[in-house]
Amino acid sequence: MTNRKLNEIVVHCAATPEGREVSVATIRKWHKARGWSDIGYHFVIGLDGKVHKGRPLSKTGAHVRGRNRGTVGICYVGGVSRDGRTPKDTRTHSQKAALLNLINSLMAEYPSIKLISGHHDYAAKACPSFPAREQYADLSGAVAKTSTPPNVDERYRYLQRLLTAAGYPHGLADGIKGPRTIKAIKDYQEFMGLPKSGEFDKATVVNLRVIEETVSPRRPAVTAVAFKTAAFDRISTEKAASGTGGTLTTLASIKEGADSVGGIVATFASHVPDWFVPVALTGAALCFGYTWYRRDKRQREAQEALA
Ligand SMILES: [Zn+2]
Repeated sequence: MTNRKLNEIVVHCAATPEGREVSVATIRKWHKARGWSDIGYHFVIGLDGKVHKGRPLSKTGAHVRGRNRGTVGICYVGGVSRDGRTPKDTRTHSQKAALLNLINSLMAEYPSIKLISGHHDYAAKACPSFPAREQYADLSGAVAKTSTPPNVDERYRYLQRLLTAAGYPHGLADGIKGPRTIKAIKDYQEFMGLPKSGEFDKATVVNLRVIEETVSPRRPAVTAVAFKTAAFDRISTEKAASGTGGTLTTLASIKEGADSVGGIVATFASHVPDWFVPVALTGAALCFGYTWYRRDKRQREAQEALA
């Protein structure tokens, strides 16, 4: 039993040649040699169909990068042909039966498990050398049907966001083509002098994309440039307004700004009590130490996750 919230089983192969038996102890040794705390899988199924326990189910495994939390890792011995390289579903009859049994009993014990996947569903690998999702679809299916999201078009949702950013609100960016979105598109098209199709057609998308940079969180640099430009605009406006003496005025106002910043620092310094500096230094040291500890821990976890 475990308190871990389990939602998925991920099937693996040991990537060992067809017909060669490999013990849990050996796989554990391989994984420990990578600096891991224990074997990465929770269960290993030998050629004879015997199920061996690996890492306790109560512990997060190390078998699928980015998805170890909430998953159970099951590995069958084999997975490549006798040449030791070519991916192959080498499962013996006993292994197939044992795997199905184990999956069924896990799902019975932990009803929160809704999905059976293969390692290759999350990584560019052949593991486990057979389409696990497809093969166990009817096991996952019953629940998967209810959890299927509505027909949301991500591209449509994104364009809706751009439309809002352009100043044509339409309610929620839900990815669904509704009357409010269509009206907002038409309003935008009218303003831009485009054909009023009510669709995100090519001309509309091209125009909307112009404002993409200011919306996308991945491009903060553009926003920074925009701010800078605004600042320059302000300065040049001031310059223009004050005529020939503009530059001097601008310089003076910059100097004034600097003085006031200096003034704030000076005022603050004169009000700092004696205990402030040692307390601040101790605090900074503790913060630094803690950050260092967290980083080290994260690195160890990341290493384990490289399954
Ligand atoms: Zn794998």
